[in-house]
Order: sequence, then structure tokens, then C-alpha cells
Amino acid sequence: MRYLVSGGAGFIGSSLVRTLLNEGHEIFILDNLITGKYSNIENIKGEKRVEFKEHDITEPFDPGEIDGIYHLASIGSVYHYQTNPIQTLRVGSLGTESMLKLAQEKGCRIVFTSSSEIYGSPRVHPQKEDYWGYVNPVGIRSVYDESKRYAESLLMAYHRKYNVDIGIARIFNTYGPYMDPEDRRVVPNFITQALKGKPLTIYGDGSQTRSFCYVDDTVRALMKLMESDYCEPVNIGNPYELTIKEFADIIADLIGVPRKYEYKELPENDPLRRKPDISRAKQVLNWEPEIPLKEGLQRTIEWFRKKLQ
Ligand code: UDP
Repeated sequence: MRYLVSGGAGFIGSSLVRTLLNEGHEIFILDNLITGKYSNIENIKGEKRVEFKEHDITEPFDPGEIDGIYHLASIGSVYHYQTNPIQTLRVGSLGTESMLKLAQEKGCRIVFTSSSEIYGSPRVHPQKEDYWGYVNPVGIRSVYDESKRYAESLLMAYHRKYNVDIGIARIFNTYGPYMDPEDRRVVPNFITQALKGKPLTIYGDGSQTRSFCYVDDTVRALMKLMESDYCEPVNIGNPYELTIKEFADIIADLIGVPRKYEYKELPENDPLRRKPDISRAKQVLNWEPEIPLKEGLQRTIEWFRKKLQ
């Protein structure tokens, strides 16, 4: 198969590209490198089955014959989407529409990576796909949340009106090798701080929760979603929920440094609890995460250790 991967130089995108390559597919990568990194795909440079184009997907583009689209392009980290608010809205809206038009024209399936952020700061726990969310439409996170919500709506509209074959993956916090050490998310922050012997920065009192899924599990789910014909949203994440303070303890212990923390203000609209209900993914994709948190973190820490050297 020949797949288009938008955002293929990003953290999850480049992991997906490597796995698709290993399975014998051809890949066309589109990435404007705002947050994606060329270094993430440098090790596959020269591979005949890969084409890369630095391109902003809000502008139309024809990749030639393709059998499917993985649409991951997005500005995913809280720091980056707040620094690039307009671009974040544009890639979710105009970028998604240009990918949908391409899927319509080529008659192929498009799998879109939505986000647990569409649930906002949820009032229902754990989050199931039929929960509509609790999002501040004008808050500082809204550029990301609303762009993903709009994108989901647009996908459904193209599906209902033009019968475009769509898949919607609502991805919860994902971690693993190839995360940007400087994107200020909790995993790169804690790991790089601990490796440098600095205190770990906990925002708020650390009682807010997240559930972390190892990237290989996420990628496997995306590929299963591409192979299926399921068109409703599917939560993709690891239901193992823990507080940020517990998470800090685990990372400090795995790296072997004292549990030294610096408490900082909790950012505005930071969701207090987050945990996916993955019954739907189990049922329609026969998928569930396989990598336990500590094992995934060990692999991630090793990658960061090398990267920092
Ligand atoms: N966080 C933290 N310290 C950091 C970075 C993040 O305590 O150095 C917290 C953040 O406030 C949030 C959680 O960790 O509650 C996850 O943050 P991240 O930016 O990774 O992703 P989010 O799930 O908020 O999109």
C-alpha cells in the first residue's frame, strides 16, 4: 500500500512511518516542520519507499496515487499550540479539509488523529466516546480543543454528505522515543530534568491525573483503525490512570535520583482528571495497550539519555 502521512516527521507520525515501512508499505510524508523534526526521519533518508515533502497542508497538494491517508499533522504540545494559536486552528480546520478533499478525490480511507482534549476538563469519568465534553471555547487551550472538535465535525460531514471513508482516533496522552525533549510536555520535562539532576517541575499540587500510552501501542491502534471500516470516534489510550505526583515519583525512581520537586502554578484550564474508557477500541479494533508504563518509560528514558549525550 502507499500511504500519505501528514505530520509524518512528528513524534507519533515518525513512529507510524517506521512501522509502516517495516510492514513493507510505501509512504509519502507531508510535514511543514513547525513542530515535526527532520531528524526524526533522517534515519530513513535514502529509503526508496519513502518520499518527504516539506509542505503546509492548509495549501492543496497532490501526492499521486495513494491507498490511504493518515492525517496526524497538528501542533500537539500545550506550549507550542499556545505559541502558534492561529496555525493550530488552521491546520485543524483548513488542513483537515484539504486532507478530506484528497481522500474524496482518491477514493481512499482517511484516519484522523483527534484528541482526548475534545473532552476538555471532563465532568464524566472515565471518558467514553458518547460523552460530549466540557470545553471552554475561548480559553487558552481552545485553539487546540476546538480545532480537533471542528475537524471531527468536518470528517463526519464529509462522511455523511459524500460517503468519504473516515476513521477518528481520539488519542490520549502518548509517550515514547522521538518526543521532542524541548516541547515542555510532562514526559520530556520530567525525564530531562531528572537526567540533568534538576528538580522535577510539578504544576499545581500534582493531584491532577493522566493516563499514558506507549507510542508503539498507539501506532498499532492507528493501523488497525485504517484496516477497519469503522467511522465513529474511537478512544486510543492506556486506561492506567495516575496522578502527576505519582508519575514524577516513578520517573525519579527509574532514573535513580532523589524525589526532588519544584511546585509551580497549575496552568489555566488544565484538565484535572483524564482516563480513557477503551471498551470500544477493544470491541471494534480488538486492540488494547500491551506495554506496561514502567517498561515504556525505561525505553523512553534510554532514548532521551542517548539524545542528550
Ligand atoms: N505538567 C507538570 N509539569 C511539567 C509539565 C506538565 O506537572 O513540567 C502537568 C500539566 O500541568 C498537566 C500534565 O502534567 O496536568 C500533562 O501535561 P502535558 O503538557 O504533558 O499534556 P496535557 O495532557 O496537559 O495536554
